[in-house]
Amino acid sequence: MLVVNSSFLFGKNFELLEEGHLVVERGRIKEINDGFVTGGIDAKGLLCIPALINSHTHLGDSFAKEAVLGLSAGEAMGSRGIKWELYQKAKRSEVLRAMRNSAMYMLNSGIAAFADFREGGINGANLLRKAIGGIENSSGRNSAVNSQSEPPIPIRAIILGRDDSIENFDGLGLNPWQLDQIPAERTKLIAVHAGESAGEIADALSVNPDIIVHFTLPTKEEIAAVARKKISVVVCPRANALLGVGIPPVRELIDHGINVALGTDNVMLNSPSLWREFEFISKLSYLEKGIPPGDILRMATVNAARALGLNSGVISRGKEANLIFLDRNAPNLRNNRNLLAAIVHRTESENVRKVMLRGKFVVEK
Ligand SMILES: [Zn+2]
Repeated sequence: MLVVNSSFLFGKNFELLEEGHLVVERGRIKEINDGFVTGGIDAKGLLCIPALINSHTHLGDSFAKEAVLGLSAGEAMGSRGIKWELYQKAKRSEVLRAMRNSAMYMLNSGIAAFADFREGGINGANLLRKAIGGIENSSGRNSAVNSQSEPPIPIRAIILGRDDSIENFDGLGLNPWQLDQIPAERTKLIAVHAGESAGEIADALSVNPDIIVHFTLPTKEEIAAVARKKISVVVCPRANALLGVGIPPVRELIDHGINVALGTDNVMLNSPSLWREFEFISKLSYLEKGIPPGDILRMATVNAARALGLNSGVISRGKEANLIFLDRNAPNLRNNRNLLAAIVHRTESENVRKVMLRGKFVVEK
């Protein structure tokens, strides 16, 4: 596969290459170079950047968008939260359809992969597999199950389950009171929600997870501990704001060398759009020192890939060719004086004109 005439933001620092070409072989980036070559797919006017990775979702709750507005985290999602009542009243087909819609929405907005905290043990995991159908799981097998004979959605789901053996999932996604589910031998990802209430982070740190999600209210010592233990942090600032728990100190975490990724959290609370998350966290950051736009974009590409163990998130040789092509001349993006800032603050899903996953175009608008 050859793509010509495109611009690229390549490497970990998103350097701009104008009018270059890209060679993809066996799903991976083989070559990226400047200059025109003949043949191939003409991507004139488009800007190629790494496809996005959403590092924390709860797709299962897509059937009840905005159902918990104004409630606290406990009232909404706690052990006696309204969420469980909503599930009792919902039809399985409704839950399934809503999950599928969210997965399709994410793919169309340029998200190649997402890490989902999945409840309900093996049955919960299978419901997500069914909603997407045919997705690759961690062992590389294809699920034969399609959702209502609709084609599979080629987005990659990293299923972090609970309440069943880790073997059924890509890893575990746990609350602080479920840490006894962590197996003695660690072969898969362990992610823990912590930091929406006081004391949770200390509990999470005691089990040395790969990922702490939220990390909203850390102490100085906890920030130092996460840096020392090389634990990745996934922040979900819109969800934290909506539930009134505070805003994670993202700039401080980055300055401590912590690998920080970004998630959109529960679809009850937020649309699973990373573009919306980008603008929110970026603008909020200027109440203090500000976070440069490149750092924001890295949270959903390079850093996310590192946190989740994916060989993608950056345009460079040997990486999986998971790429998006933006219409940089769209009225809402053109005439900018800072390309990265314009991408982070102004991109809409409709600006994503093509999505390439593992070297194949899967979305073309
Ligand atoms: Zn969550």
